[in-house]
Amino acid sequence: MDKIIIKNLEIFCNHGVYKEENILGQKFLVSASLNLDTRKAGITDSLEISVNYASVCSFINDYMKAHTFKLLEAAAEHLILALFAHFDKLLAITLEIKKPWAPIGLPVDYVSVEISRKWHTAYIALGSNMGDKLGYLENAVSSIKNDVNCRLLKISDFIITEPYGPVEQDDFLNGCIMIQTLYNPNELLAFLQHLESDANRIREIHWGPRTLDLDILLYDDIILDSDDLIIPHPEMHKRDFVLKPLCQIAPNAVHPLYKLRIKDMTDNK
Ligand code: AMP
Repeated sequence: MDKIIIKNLEIFCNHGVYKEENILGQKFLVSASLNLDTRKAGITDSLEISVNYASVCSFINDYMKAHTFKLLEAAAEHLILALFAHFDKLLAITLEIKKPWAPIGLPVDYVSVEISRKWHTAYIALGSNMGDKLGYLENAVSSIKNDVNCRLLKISDFIITEPYGPVEQDDFLNGCIMIQTLYNPNELLAFLQHLESDANRIREIHWGPRTLDLDILLYDDIILDSDDLIIPHPEMHKRDFVLKPLCQIAPNAVHPLYKLRIKDMTDNK
């Protein structure tokens, strides 16, 4: 992966746990390794299709001066999020913030925190079979789209499907979206569950009617089995109402366990 590298950008600013640090300020050194595809810019020699490192440096400088965090961890986390939001060509970032004058009363070159974050690709299934079904799905999609940790890439048609399971209930409206996200899988699940509860979802009957159901189908090509999160979604390959909309937006995505393309899983049902 191509990189633009910025080493030890010197910034005088006010981060620290102690009040004196917040008032007096001190020197920080910020290094960033920015992953992006530089090939087109390299061939055409045009700055507009790359990321301008002078703009990145000035953005980092302004951000570090405009905010005050206690922890280097927090400064790094927030700065990385702001960089992703501002420079949309960046695919991954490694950021190191050094504090050479850290008040620890011992001789040391510097202390630093380094973090790496990247956009992950995920597919989410949406369903509703109560009240304003279309409204619930559209609200969920726009909340995901407006979250700084997510980018909406594709959205399927919403299809009407018959309910499954033992409970008699109204038809469902189902769809799928493809997103990029900075959330890790558990954070993404927590975010989606928060949207479900915002939609007044009450878990009364298992398999029963719901205002909004959001499931993580795929997340990059990871295979995960924990107490509260299983990826790929364990039921996805059995469910027409998931595979059909998913196939519309990602026919060639590969299920990492079955090693089959979604279009082949859909055709074979
Ligand atoms: P339901 O709302 O009926 O789809 O079930 C939600 C429950 O399934 C939650 O308690 C989740 O912790 C769990 N779960 C396991 N894997 C997933 C997944 N891939 N996506 C969403 N929920 C999941």
